[in-house]
Amino acid sequence: MTQYSLGSANISIINTGDLSLSLKEMMSVPEKEREGYSQFFEPKLQFPTQSVLVSSSGQNMLIDPSDYSLMRAYDADFASMIPPNYRQPPALDMQLKTIGVSPENIAFVVITHNHYDHISGLTKKSDGRYIPSFPSAKYFLGREDWEDERIQKAIKNEGSPEAKSLGVVKTAGMMELVSEKRTLTDEVEIVPSPGESPGHQTVRVNSRGSTLYCVGDLFHHPVEIENLAWMATWCEPGRMLESRKGLVERALKENALILPTHMPLGRIVEDNETASKVRFVPEEDPCDEA
Ligand SMILES: [Zn+2]
Repeated sequence: MTQYSLGSANISIINTGDLSLSLKEMMSVPEKEREGYSQFFEPKLQFPTQSVLVSSSGQNMLIDPSDYSLMRAYDADFASMIPPNYRQPPALDMQLKTIGVSPENIAFVVITHNHYDHISGLTKKSDGRYIPSFPSAKYFLGREDWEDERIQKAIKNEGSPEAKSLGVVKTAGMMELVSEKRTLTDEVEIVPSPGESPGHQTVRVNSRGSTLYCVGDLFHHPVEIENLAWMATWCEPGRMLESRKGLVERALKENALILPTHMPLGRIVEDNETASKVRFVPEEDPCDEA
């Protein structure tokens, strides 16, 4: 776990498990266009899956609670994404416990989007059935992600992992569906950013003039920042590009930190050498943000 101060807020970045993927399988970028980027496209790369705890204004907010050991239920090919000889980190609740946060202490859970690496920790098994992992929390999901045909079809099947996660939380009356900007506290708001999924959303934290965007899967790798039109095959291209351009513009203007789920914390800086005129710079000593 890595912890940072952002104004008076505390940010804990919790890796719940790495996934091994190749960009070549994820994106369809013409070979000619990706000249000079082959070192990123050819090999399998290791991506962390990060849940984020934001402690601000006396409240704990968790973004994308994920449970590595439950992920395989969602995807028959999951085993191929586990890095060779990989030992997964302790489960999310164990990692939260080390910083004194219990599941009951979580006030808000924000789900950036409905993909399994972002929802697998929403619920846990107790006495043979699934219950919300964070019993006092209000959960926020993009309305279009809930209404998504794939999700609606999956939750109708009681045995599906989506029914055991999203379905259980919705049935418990703990989920709010979001379709526009939603303020959570005086320092935190949810901003819709569709494209990766129809209801994808971003969390903006602003504390004492410092800003952080937890951007979910708006980007998976720095090459997508240098080339904003490069994206995963499952994205809606028009909406994704618009969401990315909006984020880049705001992040530059606010000198904001960005934290994608599968990348380190960093900033977007101008760079005339790249296709999109910007690039990603990982934050070297983020403690200075305090
Ligand atoms: Zn993801």
